[in-house]
Formats: sequence, C-alpha cells, structure tokens
Amino acid sequence: MKKDQPYLESVPNEQGFFGRFGGAFLPPQLEEPFAEIRQAYDKLSKSFEFLHELKKIRKHYQGRPTPISYCKNLSDLVGGGQIYLKREDLNHTGAHKLNHCMAEALLAKYLGKTKLIAETGAGQHGVALATAAAYFGLECEIHMGEVDIKKEHPNVVRMKILGAKVVPATHGLKTLKEAVDSAFDAYLKDTKNQLFAIGSVVGPHPFPKMVRDFQSVVGLEAKEQFMEMTGKLPDMVTACVGGGSNAMGIFSAFIDEPVKLYSVEPAGRGDKIGEHSASLTYGSEGIMHGFNSIMLKDEEGNPAPVHSIGSGIDYPSVGPEHAYLHSIGRTNIGLCSDDEAVDAFYKLSQHEGIIPALESAHAVAFAMKYAAEHPKEAILVNLSGRGDKDIDFVVEHYPVPIKGR
Ligand SMILES: *Cc1c(COP(=O)(O)O)cnc(C)c1O
Repeated sequence: MKKDQPYLESVPNEQGFFGRFGGAFLPPQLEEPFAEIRQAYDKLSKSFEFLHELKKIRKHYQGRPTPISYCKNLSDLVGGGQIYLKREDLNHTGAHKLNHCMAEALLAKYLGKTKLIAETGAGQHGVALATAAAYFGLECEIHMGEVDIKKEHPNVVRMKILGAKVVPATHGLKTLKEAVDSAFDAYLKDTKNQLFAIGSVVGPHPFPKMVRDFQSVVGLEAKEQFMEMTGKLPDMVTACVGGGSNAMGIFSAFIDEPVKLYSVEPAGRGDKIGEHSASLTYGSEGIMHGFNSIMLKDEEGNPAPVHSIGSGIDYPSVGPEHAYLHSIGRTNIGLCSDDEAVDAFYKLSQHEGIIPALESAHAVAFAMKYAAEHPKEAILVNLSGRGDKDIDFVVEHYPVPIKGR
C-alpha cells in the first residue's frame, strides 16, 4: 500500500491481484469474454451516466439507504458493548445480494446482452438475479444442482415466479460444483448475448473488484449514518463471510479508518474437514474457480466438502481480497458455530423483533461474544439478510426457546 493513497485505489492491480491473491486463471475460451467485461467495467465505473442510473435504482427501487438500528435490548442482555445493525434485511428482496445483481444487470444492458446466466447453491443469488433480470427486461437462466432444487424449494418457486428458467444440474453430486460446471457450459455456447453474473467477491478478475465496488454503497451509507447517530466511528465492524461480498461492502468504508474489522467464519459443528466452512481459519493457498486465494482442500488438493447451517456461507474458499486483508493483518477472524448462530437467531428475534438470516446470525452471534468482552466499544454488524427463508428449517430442528431463559 502506498502512503496517502486511499486503500480502495491501491488494490487490485491491473491484473486483478490483491497482493498475491486474485488474478484471472481462465481456460482459453473464456479469455476474450472476460476481457470484454473487464474493459466495459473499466469504462463504466467512471461513467457519470452509469453511476447516476445505479443511484436512482438504489433509491427508488431497492429502497436505499437502508437504516442502522441500535439494539438496546440485545446490548443490555449481553451486558457489554453497544451493538448496532446495518439493515440489509430491509433492502428489496431481503438481502444485500441485490446490490450487486442490479449493477451486474445494468452492466449487461450497457453491453447489449439479452440474458443473464449464473449458478446458485441455496438459491439466494438466483432469486436476486432473477429480480434484476425482470426489472431490466433480460432473460435469466439459473443453474442449480438437482439436490439443491429439492432442498431449497421456496427459492426455486420464487425464481420461476420472477420469470427465470431454472436448469437442474444432474451429474456428479448434483450440488453447487456441478451447477457451476453446467452454467459455464451454457455460457460458453453464447458469450456474445449472455453475461455470466457471479454472486460474490469471488471468481476471475474483474468480479472480486466489481462486486466489491457495487457493494461498497453499504459501507458508505453505514459510515455516514453511524457518525450522524453517535458522533463517532464504530470501534469494530463485523460481517459474516461466505465468498465475502457483504463483508467487503461494509468493510470498504472503514479500511482506512482506525476501526477493527472482524470477518466471521462458519465453524459449523466441528473442526474436521467437512464439518465447517472456515476457509481462512483452516485453509491454505490454492487456485479454484479461476482465482488464487485461501481454500479448504481435500487430500487430492481439490475443493473440500464444507458445512454450515447458513447455506449461503458454505463455500470452500473466500474472495481474494479477504485473503489479502487477513494476510496483511488488517482483518481479524471471528468464529461462530451452528448452535451459536441459532442462539443469536432467536435472541435477535425475541429481544429486537428482527428475524435474521442464519448467515447474518453468525455475525450477530460473534458481535454478542465480542460485546461481552469489550464493554466500552460500539460494534457495527452488517445484517446481510432477513430470516424468512430459514424459519421452517430452524423451528423443525431447534425448538423455539422460551423467552428469557
Ligand atoms: C449469500 C448470502 C451471504 C453470503 O455471501 P457473501 O458474499 O459472503 O456476503 C450472507 N448473507 C446472506 C443473507 C446471503 O444471502
């Protein structure tokens, strides 16, 4: 990092590297389509018209800015520091993903594309992208493992209602990895009219940078709102990390400030491979899905099986910028198990009237632990999404606790 240069301008470099992490490791057929996206984004990220249109959409369609809420009851309950939430659960569709999906769809429109294509695991990215496609009058094709289609039925229905085509991936284990393969095959058949829309700060350059930039609105809003509410910066900012887009969104405004940053990784139900998806905690350097980062590997060095109760954060790697920020000591890691996430899910619901997504509950759970140990600090949590999608699963496996016990 050069002195006096704002952090966000210092990385990535021209080739998409954040230190040693990132880059674009592409099969030859993808070099050209990705060069097109790179050049288009270079231009559009400086275009007044593009940025102005995005701003209008955020205000009049998505309902931004989303508020910050102070959780007095939860803070009192924990008996420590003050917990604040940036309310991405109140963004249209109920999560932060629409922030980058709307922008990716706008990019597709500027490029003259007619169709968005992507894979989805739990279906959250698929729903957000289908929403953006409907708004912009684009076709949308979402590839999803056959196993996930059964498991995530409500999201499949949502995508169909929104007018998207859901294509089942029927080979191998029939989950996310197969969905990625299937989506890339379909994309390669027509890179002229289709845009591959990646769902987090992962994948080959320029997606980690682009998605970070699109999500940075969360941090910009939050910083201003927090200063207005409290007259100072938060002491600590935290978010859950799957690929890492909601975390990069809120972190981006605080990296140059004297604020501690904690990435919360899913500790799942144990520390053995397959029981968690804490990539930075247990992983090592490697290339997958077209970029170099820290990843969880099996014995052959392939992406390892992962688990988290939050189906949007069970990814065996992290965005390259997270690997970088952690490697230079700018971010710390917090861990949260499945059980702690469920406890936070119920506590936030019963004491604040906010049902969080299980993914977001990981960040809340960590904030509660941290607050208990840091009674003088103000803690800002990115509440990445609402929990409606998780309620049936949670009550079936974890009976509703009696409030106050
Ligand atoms: C998808 C999702 C996440 C994880 O994605 P990141 O890119 O790590 O932010 C977190 N929370 C919610 C609600 C999600 O839908």
